[in-house]
Formats: sequence, structure tokens, C-alpha cells
Amino acid sequence: MFHIFQISGIVFRASSLKIKILIPVFISCLLFLSVIDLPFSNNQLLDATINDSSESDTPRDKLIGGLLTADFDEGSCLSRYHKSLLYRKPSPYKPSEYLVSKLRSYEMLHKRCGPGTKAYKDAKESLDHDEIYVGECRYIVWIAEYGLGNRMLTIASVFLYALLTERIILVDNRKDVNDLFCEPFPGTSWLLPLDFPLFNYTYRYNKEYSRCYGTMLNNHTINSTSIPPHLYLHILHDSRDNDRMFFCQKDQSLIDKVPWLIVGANAYFVPSLWFNPTFQPDLMKLFPQKETVFHHLAQYLFHPTNQVWAMVTHYYNTHLANADERLGIQIRVFRKDAGYFQHVMDQVVSCTQREKLLPESATQEESKVNISKSPKLIAVLVASLYPEYSERLKNMFWEGNTSTGEIIEVYQPSGERIQQSDKKLHDQKALAEMYLLSLTDNIVTSARSTFGYVSYSLGGLKPWLLYQPTDLITPDPPCVRSKSMEPCLLTPPSHGCDADWGTNSGKILSFVRYCEDIMYGGLKLYDKI
Ligand code: GDP
Repeated sequence: MFHIFQISGIVFRASSLKIKILIPVFISCLLFLSVIDLPFSNNQLLDATINDSSESDTPRDKLIGGLLTADFDEGSCLSRYHKSLLYRKPSPYKPSEYLVSKLRSYEMLHKRCGPGTKAYKDAKESLDHDEIYVGECRYIVWIAEYGLGNRMLTIASVFLYALLTERIILVDNRKDVNDLFCEPFPGTSWLLPLDFPLFNYTYRYNKEYSRCYGTMLNNHTINSTSIPPHLYLHILHDSRDNDRMFFCQKDQSLIDKVPWLIVGANAYFVPSLWFNPTFQPDLMKLFPQKETVFHHLAQYLFHPTNQVWAMVTHYYNTHLANADERLGIQIRVFRKDAGYFQHVMDQVVSCTQREKLLPESATQEESKVNISKSPKLIAVLVASLYPEYSERLKNMFWEGNTSTGEIIEVYQPSGERIQQSDKKLHDQKALAEMYLLSLTDNIVTSARSTFGYVSYSLGGLKPWLLYQPTDLITPDPPCVRSKSMEPCLLTPPSHGCDADWGTNSGKILSFVRYCEDIMYGGLKLYDKI
């Protein structure tokens, strides 16, 4: 086994091995690696590599069809331009020219309005005095809440809203967002300065907050002649109908005048934006392929920090790079007594065998002795809080016997057991695992899990979704192949806006339909139903 830095630039070729090394980055990586802990394995820091095992030498589009700006220094954030190199096949999903041009305009606006500018200072001062700020810049502040999957889905949703309404997104920097992601916009920062006045301890953002939009609507304290300098938007699972009026056209014309919006969210609210006739034409142009919204936004926004990227590349090169096929399995158990359950294990086995993602393990009599010199190697990457799932799967195949003669290797990078959101290393492992899952060829994910949604959508993969079991029983069928790679909005509005008030939102637009993993609960975008 050897590890290489595969980085464009100076290329060394060593006998049978193709080794590509960019010396300056190699040196900076060594420096960087010498100061970090690598949580996935013990002190194998120098393995933090990108092994481009693509034999074709096809130049990969490191700017992802213009999605990324070239204005960043590469070494500061290795994942930004090298991510696409890890994907063995070029993505079939190209960003639209309109999306690309909108992103470039956004970046300029963010530079003019972001932290450190006069505009930001003035807008913040107005907020200090509870006065309306009038100027080019209007802001939307994302608050960090819930697990990492939820956070990534809500950042993407808030950013899309910012693009559509020409606001500046600023992210709550009180937790560990800075340890997870590099800056996405050049020459500025998306981190909300820590002295932001509304994060003073006297403010608690919840439905009772007096400047909560839904509460103001309930109390009739907001109208076109009485606009507050800031509003809190409550877009969570327990939002009331009035909170969800935020997405309506009439409400948006009012909200547009509020210079500061603060969003508490745990829902991927992108589908709700499509219901608004003001946003729809723009959205159609931005995303002609509707199921690519999160895929493109995530590729644009989320660049793991060098520390996280070291975990991803190390693990990928060590365990996944040489396989003929990679299967990702994400197992999330939503129960108070969550842990290892036989019915969940049975479900995973039943799904993967039924869908021919894995062969059946064979008894000695049944097993095919594969005399081929290079039997197909399938690497299975399991992500779960509980290590028992991969252990059982490994046991199934450990004698090397499969009914088809293929070789199955099973890996699980971590088994944290307990969710510990906001703990730096824990969140970094979670992010690394999402990226590793996104690099697989086929993926099976758990119903309702935003962790799973991010993983498959990031990778541009249509997942097999495991149905949520009830009463310790393995569902039959165990899983369903999704027709869309978009995440699901788990808590959609149960009503329309004006003309379509009372209409079931699952029937308003042909391309917004129920999610396969939770019938009649969630909504998502589809290109083909
Ligand atoms: P969801 O609860 O499944 O929708 O996903 P979230 O990501 O929002 O919250 C779950 C959190 O639990 C993750 O962010 C991690 O902190 C932790 N977690 C859950 N499953 C895994 C896993 O497979 N691997 C790791 N490393 N962490 C996990």
C-alpha cells in the first residue's frame, strides 16, 4: 500500500505506479498534517492524500462547469478545487449558465456588504439602535441548530433564498461551522461576527419571540406601514401556519423591506420556494434540472476544511480507491433506545440483496470458487453511530464466500454511539463520512435522515431509501429506489397561500411530489415522476 498526493502540477511517474505530486502543496500538507489529530485512524497523518486512480488521465473540471470561482488560493482549502478529482466519473449534472452568472453577481454583492465593509457597519449600527437600515445591503442570518445534516440542508435553503432576493447570507459562527467548512465566497467572509448585537444573551429565538414573523402575524403587529428592523423566521418542524406564510408572495413583498432576517430552521425548505410565483421563473432558469438544486448548491457552498479533507482522502485511498465498485450504506435509527436492532440489520441485508447491490453470502457447498485472477471487489462503506452493523455485515462475508464469487470488504470509519453535535471532532467525522458516502457508486440511506439526504445528493446519487420500520418489524419491501436525488422537505406546509389556500401542497406543482420514504408527509423536487 502506498499513498500519494495527486495534485495537478508537477507529475512524477514511478515505474508501474502513477504518482502525481505537486511539491508546494505536498510540503504545505506535510506541515499541516504535522499539527492535526487524525481521528479516523491512529497517527497515519501522512496518508492524507488524494489518489486519482482514474486511468484515463481525462482532465477533470476543477471549477465544476464554472460553478466555482477561480479566485481562491488553492492551498488554503485543498478540497475546494480537488474535490472533483476524487469523483471517478465526471458528474452528468452541469450547472446552468444562469446559475453561474447569478453566483458571480452574488459574490460581488457579498464583497460589498460582508463583514468589515462600511455597509455592514452601518447596517449593524442601525440594528443596535433598532432602526431601519436603508441601503444596498440586506442580510439573512442563519442560526446553527440541530445535527449537521439539518444544518447543511438549511444553509443551502437560506442561501438559495438569499440568491433569489439579493440578500447576504451570514452564518452563525458560535458553534463549529468554521472547523468544518472553508469560506465559500472569495475576498470576504460568510461568518457572522461574534459581536452581532442580536446574539446578545437577552434574545431567545423561538415562536414566542416578539419579532417572530408568525407571532407578529398572529398579533397583527406587522403590516406595510409598520416594518420592523429585523424579523425572526421560525422554519422548524413545529412551525405554525402563520410561520409558513413566509413563503407566500404577498408576505414576501412585506418581508423584502426588512433589512435583517434571522432564520431558525431544521427543514430543507427549497420546495416551498418553488410554490411562490415570484421566485418560480428564476428558479426554472437557475435549475432546469430540478432535482439538482441541493447537488449544485452543496458543491458550491461546502468545502471541507483541510483537517476534514485529510480524513476523507486518507480513508478513501486506504479502503475505497482500489475497489471495482463502492456501496455506501447509511444506517440511522430514530428511537429513544437507538442502537443495534436485528430487524434493521435484516432490512439492510434484505434491501441490498433484493436490489442486487450485494450478493448473498454462501455456505461452503454453495460458494463459487472464483478462479479468476481478479474477482470483482466491492467495498462497502457503512456509516452509523453503531459499529455493530458493519461488524455483522463483515461476519456475513468474512470467509470470502459469496454466491457470485465477488469479494466483499466492509468498512465503517467511526461508531460514535451518541450524537454530539457541536463537538468539533465529532462533527468533523460526521462531515467526512457524508463525503465518503457521496463518493460511492450506489448508496442505501435511512428514511427521514438528513445525514443520508446530504450524502446522496452531494454525490449526485439516486439512493435506495430504507423505509422506516415500525414495531421492531422489518418493512416489506425493505427499501425503494428514489427517482430523485433531492433531499426531502420533511415538514411541508399543509396549506397554499391565497387562491390555493387549503389545497394540499402535494398537488399544486407537477414536479413537487411526496417523498418516497415518508408517504404523505414530505415533499421533494422531481424531474421524472
Ligand atoms: P439526522 O438526524 O439523521 O437527520 O441527521 P443530522 O446530521 O442532522 O443529525 C444526526 C447527527 O448524529 C449527525 O450530524 C452526527 O453528529 C451524528 N450521526 C448520526 N449518524 C452518524 C453516522 O453515521 N456517522 C457519524 N459520524 N455521525 C453520525
